[in-house]
Amino acid sequence: MVDSSTSSRITRRDKEHFLHQHARSIWMTGLSGAGKTTLGLALEKKLFHLGFFIQLLDGDHVRTGLNKDLRFSDADRTENIRRIAEVNALYNHSGIITINCFISPTHAIRQMARATIGSADFIEVFIKAPLSVCEERDVKGYYRKARQGLIKEFTGVDSPFEEPEHPDLLIDTSFSSVDQCLHKMIGFILPKITITPVSQRVSQ
Ligand code: ADP
Repeated sequence: MVDSSTSSRITRRDKEHFLHQHARSIWMTGLSGAGKTTLGLALEKKLFHLGFFIQLLDGDHVRTGLNKDLRFSDADRTENIRRIAEVNALYNHSGIITINCFISPTHAIRQMARATIGSADFIEVFIKAPLSVCEERDVKGYYRKARQGLIKEFTGVDSPFEEPEHPDLLIDTSFSSVDQCLHKMIGFILPKITITPVSQRVSQ
């Protein structure tokens, strides 16, 4: 006798309910040094402690693994984001929330990510800081190298960054502390991923 429970597939909705969350892709875009990784890690930690299940995807990690065959030409930047967006779609289908920290410099590239992931699941967060501030921070020394001509096609120096015109959320890191930025992000994102109210989740 066939067990009817094996004939229907486990759906994304089943997985989301198992994890008590709506799967969404939080897409942080901005210049190098704007604060994507700092805020992405802080957001991941905060959401995890609130009981959410999250995967953070970061440019440096993806480029040393899945996309290590890609460089920084326009075609490779597009392919980089295309693959990352497909990975996001898989995570979301498994009920998992993602946080993405990628410069993703053009409208076209972000639009492709949105279309691949699906508009309903895509939360675009513009992590904004003026080029002068990012260059002053120069967290990884990339700007100095780019100005010396040691790195070519560096976003903001000799490759354009097109600011999002209508991001879902804008976070200006040049005027606010990490804690203030995190507070604003949490306030915006929590209602979009919550199935069970947080107060009930942590007491479970
Ligand atoms: P990105 O991932 O966008 O390249 P990083 O997070 O690696 O940027 O670096 C951002 C730098 O700016 C860090 O040194 C961080 O401490 C600093 N910073 C100062 N204020 C903020 C803020 N409000 N939010 C995020 N980062 C900030």
